[in-house]
Amino acid sequence: MKAYLLTTIIFIGISTATFAESVVSKHGLLRVQGGQVVNEKGQPVSLAGNSFFWSQWDRTGFWNEDCVKWLVEDWNTTIIRAAMGVENPGGYLEAPAKNEKKVRVLVDAAVAEGVYVIIDWHSHHAERSTSEAVAFFTRMARTYGKLDNVIYEIYNEPKETEWKEIKAYSETVIAAIRAVDPDNLIIVGCGKWSQRVDAPAADPITDWPNIAYTLHFYSKMHHQWLRDRADAALGKGIALFVTEWGPVGDGKNDPETEAWMKWCKKNKICHLAWAVNDKDEAWSIVKKGASPNGNWTTDDLRPAGKLERRIIRNWSDGNSSR
Ligand code: MG
Repeated sequence: MKAYLLTTIIFIGISTATFAESVVSKHGLLRVQGGQVVNEKGQPVSLAGNSFFWSQWDRTGFWNEDCVKWLVEDWNTTIIRAAMGVENPGGYLEAPAKNEKKVRVLVDAAVAEGVYVIIDWHSHHAERSTSEAVAFFTRMARTYGKLDNVIYEIYNEPKETEWKEIKAYSETVIAAIRAVDPDNLIIVGCGKWSQRVDAPAADPITDWPNIAYTLHFYSKMHHQWLRDRADAALGKGIALFVTEWGPVGDGKNDPETEAWMKWCKKNKICHLAWAVNDKDEAWSIVKKGASPNGNWTTDDLRPAGKLERRIIRNWSDGNSSR
């Protein structure tokens, strides 16, 4: 009888802990402190998760709650990214309501699952649509600014745009967000597909708290030279956030991805793999025919998906709560 009672108490205790300890309830609102993304206790946080594919090209329909739930349960994903396409055909500028609705579905799913979510203005020329970005992020801040789950990424990948211009755009959008939401993390892209982290390191945005900068790497082309540049940027005191990365993609030996993951671990950097999709390209995680709602078998995964699932599932720092 006693043993039965004790087992029951232990069981109830474990169940309660499992439900109560989502990654967001564990870490709370993320912020930047001393060039590092930290939790509400000031401890560095390194999360691992998945970026969804361009909203307007999500033909199979992965942007749904079941898919998020699967990634959280089967991949131990602790952060997702709603990459809302802006400029291209079918993007936000052409179809604002449709794209914004998709973002809201993912944000609501992340909140239901207790994980972080990045609202990403997925653009290569954001400075051409500053007023649209201001209106969009003002609405997002009004709806979601009180939630610990939400992070704003205001410019995915500038290409040839100079930092001076990126900074001016960013300061306008940040001012609009901060007028509504004083504290949630904001991530700012930098030149050359978010590889020129040296530019914000030399001339950071200083008027508002909790600003981090985007670093993107694809292991096939971005090697030690980019890690050196990122190290130098961290050394100057800016916080970096890898909102996208991709492996070599053929599923074979991938020492560069390994080197990058070691780097992320050492520097306690958050990272999200590109992308939740079934398009026939190296960086898609699943094959054509895989369900948009998850429940994937190993056979449904492409080589990138297998590698990324292994990395994300076993990422200990920040994932240990689930
Ligand atoms: Mg807030």
